[in-house]
Amino acid sequence: MEYAKNILETIGNTPLIKLNRLTEELPCLVLAKYETFNPGNSVKDRMALQMIEDAEADGRLKPGGIIIEGTSGNTGMGLALAAIVKGYKCIFVMADKQSKEKIDILKAVGAEVVVCPTNVEPTDPRSYYSVSRRLAEETPNAWYVNQYDNPSNCKAHFKTTGPEIWNQTDGKVTHFVVGVGTGGTISGVASYLKMKNPNVKIWGVDTYGSVFKKYHETGIFDHNEIYPYVTEGIGEDILPANVNFSLIDGFTKVTDKDAAVYTQRLAKEEGMFLGNSAGAAIKGVLQLKEHFKPDDVVVVLFHDHGSRYVGKMFNDDWMRKMGYIE
Ligand code: PMP
Repeated sequence: MEYAKNILETIGNTPLIKLNRLTEELPCLVLAKYETFNPGNSVKDRMALQMIEDAEADGRLKPGGIIIEGTSGNTGMGLALAAIVKGYKCIFVMADKQSKEKIDILKAVGAEVVVCPTNVEPTDPRSYYSVSRRLAEETPNAWYVNQYDNPSNCKAHFKTTGPEIWNQTDGKVTHFVVGVGTGGTISGVASYLKMKNPNVKIWGVDTYGSVFKKYHETGIFDHNEIYPYVTEGIGEDILPANVNFSLIDGFTKVTDKDAAVYTQRLAKEEGMFLGNSAGAAIKGVLQLKEHFKPDDVVVVLFHDHGSRYVGKMFNDDWMRKMGYIE
């Protein structure tokens, strides 16, 4: 018989899938690292499990402990699955711009969810960064995960996602393109791929309203770059320790409208029913067209599943209201 001992054993080893119609205008092969095949439907299962295992190993997380994290949903899902299997409780703090589906899904897997206002400074006591920190201090036997600065986040991608991409492309990958939030995915994959071949180019996809691109190009943390945006999962108004800027060759910014439109196009033209950051990522690849040559092998990572966006990017009334479609 062949079976996984529990749901956590099915994390990772996701397929690499060729894009066809959407990338017709590009000279090269474009392959999607398709992370919705993880059991929590996102790439975040990988780092959630790694963060828990490392915290168990060094005693930060004790038997029966309470896992506390600020999460837009996907990290929460990964943590919740691991918590169920391993016997922990979860409290998640989310910003109110996140889709209702994400909140309901976390509750469905047994987590308690606290919702905070989106448009306040990170240092404001109401922000989701501040609330998660405070809860972690006040709750007995709590462990504050802090995916932004937790090195196990990057490590998961160095240990699993990076080697998978290298092996699946027979070492032929020339470019890796991915949306950046905590930075764990880009930095972990980049450090592995650049270790194997320093010529592999690493591109981050950023949003308008986020600090990454300007910071990478100038070294200046520019507060004028920070304003509300719609795209979910990528972009930040802080500099997480997990973004290793020295490994990143460049950033491209994608508009909220393009990210939403390309999320729909991935579903309708490739049969890839994916989350909003996948739309941003594929538009980012198209924006980088001039950097690609015929023999290049471009890998773009798609973080999460479309089911979490049915009330938004897959709802034409919402798309019209936002002015994204006629
Ligand atoms: N897309 C989605 C949907 C996400 O949830 C995240 C994590 N915030 C990202 C992209 C960015 O990934 P990372 O945090 O590893 O940079």
